[in-house]
Amino acid sequence: MNSQHDSQTDTGWCLEHSYQQLPAIFHSTCHPEPVSHPQWVLLNQSLALALGLDAEALLQTPEVLSGNALPPGSTPVAMAYAGHQFGHFNLLGDGRAHLLGEQRTPAGTLVDIHLKGSGVTPYSRRGDGRAALAPMLREYIISEAMHALGIPTTRSLAVIASGDPVIRERLLPGAILTRVASSHIRIGTFQYAAHVGGTDAAKAMADYTIQRHYPELKEQAEPYLALLAAVMQRQADLLASWMQVGFIHGVMNTDNMTLSGETIDYGPCAFMNHYDAQTVFSSIDHGGRYAYGNQPQIAWWNLARLAEVLAPLTDRQGEASGFERTAQLLHTFPERYQNAWLQKMRGKLGLCHEETGDRALAEDFLSLLQEGQADFTHSFRTLSALLPSMSQTAVPAAWQAWITRWHQRLQREAGDEAAVRQRMNQHNPAVIPRNHLVEHALASAADHGDLQPLQSLMAVLATPYADCERPQAYIDPPAPNPGYRTFCGT
Ligand code: AMP
Ligand code: MG
Repeated sequence: MNSQHDSQTDTGWCLEHSYQQLPAIFHSTCHPEPVSHPQWVLLNQSLALALGLDAEALLQTPEVLSGNALPPGSTPVAMAYAGHQFGHFNLLGDGRAHLLGEQRTPAGTLVDIHLKGSGVTPYSRRGDGRAALAPMLREYIISEAMHALGIPTTRSLAVIASGDPVIRERLLPGAILTRVASSHIRIGTFQYAAHVGGTDAAKAMADYTIQRHYPELKEQAEPYLALLAAVMQRQADLLASWMQVGFIHGVMNTDNMTLSGETIDYGPCAFMNHYDAQTVFSSIDHGGRYAYGNQPQIAWWNLARLAEVLAPLTDRQGEASGFERTAQLLHTFPERYQNAWLQKMRGKLGLCHEETGDRALAEDFLSLLQEGQADFTHSFRTLSALLPSMSQTAVPAAWQAWITRWHQRLQREAGDEAAVRQRMNQHNPAVIPRNHLVEHALASAADHGDLQPLQSLMAVLATPYADCERPQAYIDPPAPNPGYRTFCGT
């Protein structure tokens, strides 16, 4: 499509605009609002390289990723969407974000280049269109940590300080984040399509999604049912990955769930320390709707909202109604999730082949963690110190019976203990972005202009599974902090 190589500056921009070929209801043309004094805070050099962008050239012009100037070939839009927020339907849209275009990468993939905090749009409602520095740094840290953990996610290319204060409970330094995503198509985008444009708009969005993310489904006899099945599978896998690292998204509204299967929108998210399925950190999640243990159920609920939009597209003469057919397909979600979860849990326990007792073995270990208020990440990472040959390591008394069972199960695995230990390390991160570390890094950066703690933290988080020495402070769970709350990034 109308891509344009960046010959003037040689930064490497190669922007296309496939999203803008969609019906006009899906976007509004609008430019980012300039800021006073854009200054670089963070540039993700390895991501820039993967996008075909020259980091040196980017660093010379903070104007471009702050919205003060546009990259060559950019025709920015704000995207329209709706969403169920804590169960209530609202019309939303990019209220503080602009899609600059879709970068064609050297590898040939197409990714959205999206500014967040870039000023008001037709969808801003009463918001100021802006973002504060700390929440944008938080999205940068956690999205990149998720990527390093091997979990599908939007990425963060840049954070640029705006030089303007934003008004929250107090005045805070403002910033713009550049988010890179395989797309920004959300379940809420489909809800918006059906609500505003009816079946034709829903079909246009479904065809676009298939083209962009699931081109192999185009030739299927039932492409929209196949689309629903494919999205359900990616979300089942995604949710299983979240659960395996103790990630709590915090605001799983339907506008914050993608069709691509990438994690999106890092607001009040946080990682669990001691294992407790009821864990909630978000200050706005009063009822615990998005508690750790509820996340798979909520994903399923959100997918039902997608199914409602796709149902009319799947009506076939002489067959059960589209609603019945999509409903039937929806019922496969729990099994898809459970299978994905168990597969990953086997890896965490060092198991390779499948046995029927594996689910109980995994669940019983979680029960031990819950009863002992044991740290989730640390307990799994150090479990390999209790492998059969490590008989000199003291086993907590409450764990003894379970450890014996686990050892018996391991005897039926192929491969030696070194292979088991390696498998466990590949599934059990040594480090996660623990809340106290993230808060310290953010406070140093946003309140004192000191990026060193953030950079050290990010360096450690870049290789979470590696078998290497790390400063103990990045590994240790924090002292108990029962009142810890995260705040939405608005
Ligand atoms: P979020 O909670 O980040 O998923 O955002 C929910 C909705 O609120 C989206 O439509 C955002 O664009 C919008 N929004 C959040 N913060 C602001 C802001 N400061 N100004 C305008 N819109 C905002
Ligand atoms: Mg959102």
